[in-house]
Amino acid sequence: MNARSSSFNATWHRKHPMPKKATVEQRIEWHLDHYKNCSCREIPEKLKEEMRKLKIEIPAL
Ligand SMILES: [Zn+2]
Repeated sequence: MNARSSSFNATWHRKHPMPKKATVEQRIEWHLDHYKNCSCREIPEKLKEEMRKLKIEIPAL
């Protein structure tokens, strides 16, 4: 389900804190999951570059 309607999903954030020493893969995973559940922030350009390198589909914002 794509919940683009709400800008900040506090419930999701409480359940999914970003790991302090997250690897690139973990950050990508977090942002992909985040994108589906919350729209308070966009995927950083640097992370998008990493996703392109890894051939991971970047969701259109
Ligand atoms: Zn968010």
